[in-house]
Amino acid sequence: MKSEIISIGSELTSGQNLDTNAQWLSQKLAAMGVPVGFHTTIADNLDDNVKCFQIALDRADLVLVTGGLGPTQDDLTREALALVAGVELVEDPVSVEQIRQMFAKRNRPMPDRNRVQALFPRGAMPILNSCGTAPGVWMTFGRKQLFAMPGVPSEMFVMFEEQVKPKLLALGIGGGVFLQRKINTFGAGESIVEEKLLDLTRRGHVPEVGITVSDAVISLRILSHAPTHADALAQIDPIEALIRERLAELVFGAEDEELQHIVVRLLVDKKKTIATAESITGGLVANRIAQVPGASNCLMGGVIAYTYPWKENLLGVPAELLRTKGAVSKEVAEAMAIGCRQKYGSDFAVSTTGLAGPGNGGEAQPVGTVFVGLAWEGGSIVQPFSWMGTRQEIQSRTAKQALNLVRLQLMKG
Ligand code: ATP
Ligand code: MG
Repeated sequence: MKSEIISIGSELTSGQNLDTNAQWLSQKLAAMGVPVGFHTTIADNLDDNVKCFQIALDRADLVLVTGGLGPTQDDLTREALALVAGVELVEDPVSVEQIRQMFAKRNRPMPDRNRVQALFPRGAMPILNSCGTAPGVWMTFGRKQLFAMPGVPSEMFVMFEEQVKPKLLALGIGGGVFLQRKINTFGAGESIVEEKLLDLTRRGHVPEVGITVSDAVISLRILSHAPTHADALAQIDPIEALIRERLAELVFGAEDEELQHIVVRLLVDKKKTIATAESITGGLVANRIAQVPGASNCLMGGVIAYTYPWKENLLGVPAELLRTKGAVSKEVAEAMAIGCRQKYGSDFAVSTTGLAGPGNGGEAQPVGTVFVGLAWEGGSIVQPFSWMGTRQEIQSRTAKQALNLVRLQLMKG
């Protein structure tokens, strides 16, 4: 079973408007367990439409089309479908009446031009449009199904949900339960994560396991499609357990959880407090912690110490250390964390220093060099890192790295 989504409109191929219909329909089909193999976008051109429909009907079992059902000259879907089927267009009296009523509801006479919207390739079935004038078109080509819907997103959404989806289910296309679980990891690259899971991520594995990366967070998506919810869970649960076992402390959370949610939860659970001493991240670490409801139970405060004098004044970093080692150094990161912890009297203090670029400001190290420090009652630790990316990416990843350092320390007990 494979499906194709075709979006029609020169406003789409010209780049004037983004084809959001295909995205929406793909998500709906995925939720029904129907895989989408192709997205095609075509300009308002009859020959090209005919060719694309032929190709789609050749390579897919289900074709969903949006656009080109309007009353104007550039709306060619009906005509193209008739050519593909090798039949003529015939008027459907019921549709004419429905279009007339649609206009009557708005107290307007039906323009003659709108009559073309009641034309259908012979043998096609009209699909009711409850929020616009253009009815949809349902056609069968052998065992293959084609549904053409309006391009206007709001009309298409309703037609798909109310008309097309029930027809698909009645045809035995889609159905069952589709379940997904997302496991989030931080601290290792994509290839290292995948290496540990090669047997699970291979094509054809049931359930399907995919890897996605977003701003240094690597997520595993387990997708299962089964007749019942219990069957789907039975597929997912053991694979989730296996992934968690293999990736161990790289896994920090699930679904939409971010590092800060885990950090706040761990701190609150353990009744510990934290303070931040930030240079390169300019308050991002504190900001992310503060985004989590309940942060007031663990976040005492934070300092943005950007220049040398303020690293000295606010955090007590020795001037000598700054002069000899430079602000972007293991020693200064450590002194920032220790100084911050003393200042706030918190259980933990986390620090960031580094070069966000794009210029390196005359420092010896390359852009992306970062040190993240952590101080607690029993000691301190500094992690060096070198990121690649834009200024914003380096700052964001550094903040994540700082939060991850706190998380790992908290998990130790
Ligand atoms: P209909 O079949 O409903 O008559 P149409 O192609 O005749 O559609 P247009 O006037 O071309 O209608 O488009 C109507 C609106 O819908 C426009 O704003 C257009 O950008 C938008 N639209 C059409 N197709 C898509 C799509 N695939 N994704 C997002 N918006 C779309
Ligand atoms: Mg159009």
